[in-house]
Amino acid sequence: MVKLITVDLDGTLLNESSQISKKNLDAIRSAQANGIEVVIATGRAHFDVQTIFKHTDIKTWIIGANGATIHHPDGKIFYSEPINRENAAGILSWLEQEEYYYEVFSNHSIFTPQNGKELLAIEMDRAISANPKVSIDRMKHAANKQFSQTGYTFINSYKDLLEKDIDIYNILAFSFNAEKLQQGWQKFHQAKDVTIVTSANHNFELEHKNASKGNALKILANKLNIKLAETAAVGDSFNDISMLKIAGRSAAMGNADTEIKKLCHEVTLSNQEDGVAHFIDTLTR
Ligand code: CA
Repeated sequence: MVKLITVDLDGTLLNESSQISKKNLDAIRSAQANGIEVVIATGRAHFDVQTIFKHTDIKTWIIGANGATIHHPDGKIFYSEPINRENAAGILSWLEQEEYYYEVFSNHSIFTPQNGKELLAIEMDRAISANPKVSIDRMKHAANKQFSQTGYTFINSYKDLLEKDIDIYNILAFSFNAEKLQQGWQKFHQAKDVTIVTSANHNFELEHKNASKGNALKILANKLNIKLAETAAVGDSFNDISMLKIAGRSAAMGNADTEIKKLCHEVTLSNQEDGVAHFIDTLTR
């Protein structure tokens, strides 16, 4: 029997307008009423997730920053695994030098460069002149989704952060230039102390080596005395692999990448068709 389910947000619980449908909200309530612990597991910062749920009556555990944080349903922090400060400084110095739009997820803020929007606008122009057929609307949609998060603080340089007493949980780099993303991937994929994942087109994200949605699921299940065999997970992208692989039951969204679908026990409907509600329904029936 499933006692805990971890649910990814973007591309999974959220539809393409970044909303949670009534059907999905009802399914979460019904799972909770059936004694199933519902856990949101996302690359987003926990305070951003709290904002998304603010207008609902639903409270859940939150695995944030791709597993670098776990927050209790009452909002208190339960676990965190920040990136070592020297490593963070090295990463950010490189991203700044390469003119990346980046975001630094910390305890209460997402720090991002003042000129971030300009950097992305320049990249968009370059992408369009290189390939006039490229979809401007899709790029704008991706950028706007990025900017719709809660809790931004603008900085002139990453050096501003080094003076602050903050923990850095996640560093997200975003670019419309595929080659640039590839270079970032090459630079960091063999790093000793950080792990690199991607949650969507146009980005890569860096966390402490031990931070992943899968590790966080393990830690939380252990805390709640639930066996991994009694857990379920649903997601759509590569940063979900670690949790999909260890959960007792795993479902890929109908809109997930083929690679994700292949490694899951089942494939549910898409995020436009309330795939999460459909999956939860099969668990509680
Ligand atoms: Ca996702």
